[in-house]
Amino acid sequence: MKSLGSIRRSFAPWTDPSAKPYIVFENVTKKFGDFTAVNNLSLTIYEKEFFALLGASGCGKSTLLRMLAGFDEPTSGRILLDGQDMRGIPPYRRPVNMMFQSYALFPHMTVEQNIAFGLKQEGMPKAEIDRRVADMLKLVKLEQFAKRKPHQLSGGQRQRVALARSVAKRPKVLLLDEPLGALDKKLREETQFELMDLQQNLGLTFVVVTHDQEEAMTMADRIAILDKGEVMQVATPAEVYEAPASRFVAGFVGNVNMFEGKVAARDDHTARITGASGAEIVVENAGDAVAGDTVAFAIRPEKIKVTSRRPEEAVNAMEGEVFDLAYLGDMTVYYVKLSDGQMVKASALNSARITEDALSWNDRAWISFKPDAGVVLTR
Ligand code: ATP
Repeated sequence: MKSLGSIRRSFAPWTDPSAKPYIVFENVTKKFGDFTAVNNLSLTIYEKEFFALLGASGCGKSTLLRMLAGFDEPTSGRILLDGQDMRGIPPYRRPVNMMFQSYALFPHMTVEQNIAFGLKQEGMPKAEIDRRVADMLKLVKLEQFAKRKPHQLSGGQRQRVALARSVAKRPKVLLLDEPLGALDKKLREETQFELMDLQQNLGLTFVVVTHDQEEAMTMADRIAILDKGEVMQVATPAEVYEAPASRFVAGFVGNVNMFEGKVAARDDHTARITGASGAEIVVENAGDAVAGDTVAFAIRPEKIKVTSRRPEEAVNAMEGEVFDLAYLGDMTVYYVKLSDGQMVKASALNSARITEDALSWNDRAWISFKPDAGVVLTR
């Protein structure tokens, strides 16, 4: 059997020009009075994709979900589902189900009654409902809790009931608004993997709204990063982290150091960037930056080495002083203040018990990195 990891790695329909997206947002704008919550946004999502909408509070994530579910209509633009324009189609006639932030379980009903509710409303025969509910209970591992009421369950168990209820009707698309928001950190992490398994086993398309970048990175095939109703980047978690499209995305996802400067020279392979203090950085991932451009060089803390002496081989080496450091057990985080005053964050894995080149507060230190360790951002 293929592992979940290898299945996910080979799933990339967005790289296939002949693949047809299942959900299409086409120049969608949503206004509330004068306020534009979603601004001319276009986005495509593929069948069986686990897609995350990530952004700060108020960026328009929930508005997008609500329009997809049919609770709101776009002010302009179109939403297509399986090729069909959704305008005017009520929520219950869309192949979509939505799981809300609050779960909204019926408190007076047992777990199995909660799961059966939507199926009964649809008029499904009783024997079939019983079979479907049993399947769902098994799927979310709550067989022995079937007769309990919601208040007799833990937060994580309630979340699983809500999930079972949302997928019982076998929607093609499940929309989840902050599905793990009510859970504590440890339970969240466990439940993330359960959600991924469930999505995979049922072959559903998931669109998840979250403001938690780690959650999006863990679960999603692709992430759309939103800001003020616009898409900043759509990419896989690894691309978003290693090749952010803009300063905003680089700063939003994970920790990053930014060196502002100008492109002094550029050829096919490398670019030289000169900072305000005259320090020069040689980079390989310069994208479409050309000589003269004002750019930022973005580099993650784990890509920077900190040493007490100037490294011999490194092209990019800068001297400074250890301003602060934090020993976190598995790694040490250094804050090195460069001679021009810029603070640089670097992290080193503590793979050996004793570090040979131990550094302490106020020590002189060198930071260094390879030319391909970061990216040049023009936006
Ligand atoms: P959060 O993470 O806080 O839920 P969000 O990204 O989901 O935020 P939305 O709920 O989509 O944000 O809201 C986007 C913007 O639109 C917000 O500024 C919000 O105040 C505004 N908004 C949403 N619904 C309405 C409404 N019915 N009337 C007026 N403004 C609204």
